[in-house]
Amino acid sequence: PGSILELPWENGPKEASVASQGSHVLHSLPVFCRDGCIKAVGQADVIRNQFSEATFERIIDCSGKCVLPGLVDAHTHPVWAGDRVHEFAMKLAGASYMEIHQAGGGIHFTVEHTRKAAEDELLTTFQHRLERMLRAGSTLVECKSGYGLNLETELKMLSLVKCCCFALRIGKTATEATDDIINNHLPKLKELKLSGEINVNNIDVFCEKGVFDLECTRRILQAGKDIGLQINFHGDELHPMKSAELGAELGARAISHLEEVTDEGIVAMARAKCAAVLLPTTAYMLRLKQPQARRMLEEGVIVALGSDFNPNAYCFSMPMVMHLACVNMKMSMNEALAAATINAAYALGKSDTHGSLEVGKQGDLLIINSSRWEHLIYQFGGHEALINYVIVKGKVVYENERCETMSSY
Ligand SMILES: [Zn+2]
Repeated sequence: PGSILELPWENGPKEASVASQGSHVLHSLPVFCRDGCIKAVGQADVIRNQFSEATFERIIDCSGKCVLPGLVDAHTHPVWAGDRVHEFAMKLAGASYMEIHQAGGGIHFTVEHTRKAAEDELLTTFQHRLERMLRAGSTLVECKSGYGLNLETELKMLSLVKCCCFALRIGKTATEATDDIINNHLPKLKELKLSGEINVNNIDVFCEKGVFDLECTRRILQAGKDIGLQINFHGDELHPMKSAELGAELGARAISHLEEVTDEGIVAMARAKCAAVLLPTTAYMLRLKQPQARRMLEEGVIVALGSDFNPNAYCFSMPMVMHLACVNMKMSMNEALAAATINAAYALGKSDTHGSLEVGKQGDLLIINSSRWEHLIYQFGGHEALINYVIVKGKVVYENERCETMSSY
């Protein structure tokens, strides 16, 4: 059986700019899903005629509501133990990164707790976090490893996620850490990938002063590419590192952060169709300068958004990320929606199957309890009352009963 959603759709974004194929229009809907995929998007009577033999598992009346593609979160670090809520007060009181570090905090605190955590504890918290992301409308999430640091803990994390992230080094020079990654981590990864024990797609490095310099980053990314991984890395966050130029040269699919990207880097990324994954929560919470979203959009860079969920930026919500992108990075609401759907899917190499409501794509969508989808961005933190249904592969995976009784205005 299929499911059909009848939706008035007059206020949809008319030209959300799309990753790879120019501009994009969302049509008036209903949507017909079967076998997990969108089979038709169009007029209800046409769908009824075309699929007259179909029996419907469920018909959702969407009068007064609207539909959006499921949101795609292009950057998260969801597998770790040891939150850092205690540090938040210290940071608000003005403690510097080094002071927190000396008080036993920072990333080392998370690494220590993650290493000690049992695999099932990591799995349970990971599942709960994914559930919360889903309720906030994310139906596809990029998940990075990276808080394990040693091979054993990283492999424990990589059994859960698809992006292998080298974000830190402790007690090693950058060159030693790079050699270790290339000679030990990546061959093991290749072996486990071949045997089907893990399913990793992306390689990620934190290209930053005092972490991995440009040359080490290049060696690791190239080695990852050589074993068939897609390049998707952290660059130009705290210092201009020429990460964008490097990514463009190596054929990276995406680079995240880019607060300190150069003008030349922006041009190189546009030319190479390398997506910029911008993370408005990071700039907001760490009080960094904002990434230059406008300049990137004007140069034709494919701009995507991510929540950057991690112990430092504890945010599950792409609607709030879109709001911050609009207010702090001066994106329009249509641009933010495209960045949190089709362009984020592109950054993950999934735009053929995800990120928009098109025939043949996976049936991932949201039903918003409002006739104007923009409420999802406009109501800062209001998504819990607005997201009425989350549908994945044509099945309702989350239904918000409060929407029947509580006004979302
Ligand atoms: Zn990150």
